[in-house]
Amino acid sequence: MEQHVFSIPMRTRFRGITVREGMLLHDPATGGWGEWSPFLEYDEEVARPWLQCALEAMRGDWPMPVRDTVPVNVTVPAVDAERAHAIVTAGGCRTAKVKVAEPGQSLADDEARLEAVRDALGPGGLVRIDANGAWDVDTAVAALPRLDRAAGGLEYAEQPVASVEDLALVRRRVAVPIAADESIRRAADPYRVRDLEAADIAVLKVQPLGGVRNCLRIAEEIGLPVVVSSALETSFGIAAGVALAAALPELPHACGLATVQLLTDDVAAHPLLPVDGALPVGPVHADRAAIARLAADPQRTAHWQARLDRVRQDQPL
Ligand SMILES: [Mg+2]
Repeated sequence: MEQHVFSIPMRTRFRGITVREGMLLHDPATGGWGEWSPFLEYDEEVARPWLQCALEAMRGDWPMPVRDTVPVNVTVPAVDAERAHAIVTAGGCRTAKVKVAEPGQSLADDEARLEAVRDALGPGGLVRIDANGAWDVDTAVAALPRLDRAAGGLEYAEQPVASVEDLALVRRRVAVPIAADESIRRAADPYRVRDLEAADIAVLKVQPLGGVRNCLRIAEEIGLPVVVSSALETSFGIAAGVALAAALPELPHACGLATVQLLTDDVAAHPLLPVDGALPVGPVHADRAAIARLAADPQRTAHWQARLDRVRQDQPL
């Protein structure tokens, strides 16, 4: 098995990081590639399902797709209205995900951004917001109707509050549909969201939840519509998300998989970037020159190899 540690600068700081690191696993016998890129602060136990996902990808053990393309959203950070308009126009997507509740900004800032996004999308587009758990229950209940009006109707609000319990409370007090994202990080979480009736939509990420087949089973068992989202991966990691989105029996919402452009470079010959608001379903091919160009330095490579050894030792796969 080949192992390649990559280190790719981000275009802008995202999730507190400026460089994305991870490991590509390649089986020359099958030709398969998998990405293992748990965030640096994760311990072995948390990083383990991420490795299951990478090994599943390397084996090419993915379910049959039922669609050829996967619609995706453009992401609008907490920028001013003019910039938001430009991002949506350039994105070419029918759905926009707009960051709200940014520290240091006001609800009026969010409203202005949402009005601009609606203007750029036109009446047929869909607008969703993501508060990343920043509000408390009362703030969310007050903010959501205002932002719904500013956006000319919201598709849904992602993680308006931090805890599953609070999500359930907010969901009972507002008309805007609620999506759970940060509340779903480990295999047991989606069932908790379902049992507490805390969300209308589940955001699933294939690496933290142990791969495409695991996610497909979770989606079936929780009985909620799924939005497949990325963990800021290269095109190899995104391909696993696309494989899940392509295999889901129903895909009523655009997915959050258009994130390769958040990185300054990619390891695939044809990076998984959206065309007409969708990603193609199909194999991703390695760009060997890019993998060499983006290789981490020896110290970081050794760090990742030791990390891989610990995760595999922890519980043999
Ligand atoms: Mg989110």
